[in-house]
Order: sequence, then C-alpha cells, then structure tokens
Amino acid sequence: MDVQVDRDLVVNLTQELVRFRSVNPPGNEQPVAEHLARAMEDLGLEAELQPLAEGRANVLGRLRGAAEGHLVLTGHLDVVPPGGQEWQRDPFGAELADGRIYGRGSCDMKGGVAAMVAAAAALRRAGFRPRADLVLACTAGEEAGMLGAGAMVERRSLEGSRYLVVAEPTDLDVFIGEKGVFWVRLRALGRTAHGSMPSLGVNAVGYMARLIPRLEAYPFPWKESELLGRPTLSVNVIQGGNKINVVPDLCQIEVDMRTVPGQDHQDLLRRLRSLAEEVARGYHPELRVALEIDNDKPPLETERSEPLVEAVVQSVAAVRKGAPRVGGVPFGTDAAYLAPGFGIPMVICGPGAPSMAHQPDEHVEVDQLVQAAEIYADLARRLLG
Ligand SMILES: [Zn+2]
Repeated sequence: MDVQVDRDLVVNLTQELVRFRSVNPPGNEQPVAEHLARAMEDLGLEAELQPLAEGRANVLGRLRGAAEGHLVLTGHLDVVPPGGQEWQRDPFGAELADGRIYGRGSCDMKGGVAAMVAAAAALRRAGFRPRADLVLACTAGEEAGMLGAGAMVERRSLEGSRYLVVAEPTDLDVFIGEKGVFWVRLRALGRTAHGSMPSLGVNAVGYMARLIPRLEAYPFPWKESELLGRPTLSVNVIQGGNKINVVPDLCQIEVDMRTVPGQDHQDLLRRLRSLAEEVARGYHPELRVALEIDNDKPPLETERSEPLVEAVVQSVAAVRKGAPRVGGVPFGTDAAYLAPGFGIPMVICGPGAPSMAHQPDEHVEVDQLVQAAEIYADLARRLLG
C-alpha cells in the first residue's frame, strides 16, 4: 500500500488553523474547531463537533474501523497569548518563509494537529481499512484548565481506546513521561489596623514572609524518577497590602509544584496545609489560612516495555532514518487527563521544538510537519493494520 502524505495539505491546514485567534484565555476555540471539522469532512473523515461552553468546542475526527482498540492522536486548538515581547512576524499571519511556518500556535500545536489530520487523510486515500478507529481528538482549553480533555473523559468520548499519542512538539523525539502539575493558591487572613498601631492588627504579609522560606525548605517526600528527575516547588506570585499606613489583613501566594510519579497531590495538599497552620500558630493565634487548588494534573510515566512505545520508536526510526531519543518532559499535557481517564498508555511525539512553544516568532519546520504526518500514518498501520 502506498501511503503518501500531501505536503500542501499539511502546510495549508497549519496556516489556516494558525490564522484563527484561539487565544486562551478566553479560548474561543469554536471557530477553529468548526473549520477543522469541515476540513476533516472534506477529506472523507468523520468529524464530530463537541460543544463545551459559549464559544468553545472540541473536535473528534475518525477513520473508522470495525473493532475496539482505537489509536488516539491528540492535540489542542488553543494557544497562549502572543505575549509582551516584540514579534518580527505577524503572530496570526501564518507566514511561510525559509521552509517554516511562523505564528502563535504553529509549533504549540496547530502544526501537530494538521499533521494528525494529514496522516488520517493519506491513509484513507490509500484505501487503508483500520482494524479499530484512528481517532483525532482535538481539544479546547489545554493551556489553562484542560476544559476539553476533561469533557472528553466525562462524556467517555474515547471509550474503546487502546493507545494515546500526544502530538505536542518534541522535535519528533519520543517522550514517555510527564511531570505532574499542582498549583496551589494560599491565602493568609489577618486583621487590619492603622499602620501606626501594628500591635492591634494581624499582619498577613509578615506571616507570609515567614511561611515562604519554610515552604521552600520543606522536605516533601519523593523518589527520583529516572525519566523526570526531581520534583520542583516555586512560589511565583505574591500579593498583599495596598497602603503604606495600613496593616494588611490579606496576603496571597501562588505555588507552582511539578511532581514525579509516586507523589500524591492530596498528600502534598495536606502537608502544605499543616505547615501553613503550624507557622500561623507560631505567628498569631488569629491568623487563618485558606488553600485552593488551581491546577491538578497527575504525573505520568509509560513503561519503556509498553508495545506502544516500541511502535512509536520504530515509526520515527523508519521515517527519519535514525532512532529517536526516548525521554520525559517537565510540563503537563492533555494526557494527564486522557491517559488515566481511559486507562491507556501515552507517548508524546510531535513536530516542532519544545523550546519554541510560547516564544515570540514561534515557528515550525515544514519538513518536520510532513515527517510527523508520515510517522502517524506509519504508526496507525503498525497498530491498526
Ligand atoms: Zn501545547
């Protein structure tokens, strides 16, 4: 069977997707999702638009097979804002120059989504009949809150699946682990007073100044992961006080934790709470703390011996004429919801440099987009042939 990826399709579709401003927040993925669903249908694929909220939608594409054991390729449709730094190119122009496509989302990760679609289209054109479905799971809301992936789990949209491949940018290397993401907002509630009489108040900023070093030094239990290294904790936002002569009754921090397999987020939360309360007791009996979770994605690791991993490695090697690197990533993807949600192993492998994500003048190499599509098509034939 001769499966030929259509280079023009990969380029044009990437450009079309980049031109939609699906910036998250707020997301507004519906127009790009509708366009993508139409493009899939025009290519002879099944497409289902999955509305989520006002202006927001997932798309599920499918090349249908007869049995269960589906291969899911997944990518997200939202992008981060262009950012404060100056761009040399129009962030939403999708300019094609020097063999690259420029624009916000070209690399992270509308290029990957276009490659997924081009792979399915090439297989269909070649007359490939998959044993089980090849599913293209295109999500809204990945960059904040995982709205789309969460809805796919809730609605059991990927029931019957066996394998998950995330098309996030890896330079076509093969990543089989991702750190967990655990964001906690911690609020200290004291009592306000005139700045000239601090003994009448409970200073929430003073409390927080004592808590932060304790937090940074706290011996959270963990085991080093060969793939992902060590967990991290970083206090990245602090807000408190608003006037020089007023004792602040409120101070808030946001703590960004990246976890490794074996760490339980609920256990982390309990430890955070008891440390915060212990420091509060030592500071002032009236000081109260409140904790709130802003993001909670568990760490993930796929066994190297899992057949999916070997299949992806072989597909990459076949297309690129060289073995890929197998490693882990320090960030979280939709797989954090989808893999445990459907009890399936995941691998991350996609076009574009991981370091290019969220950067000014973001771009992706066209050659890599085409190779990614060839890899996905090859993989589908291995797993669904
Ligand atoms: Zn991404």
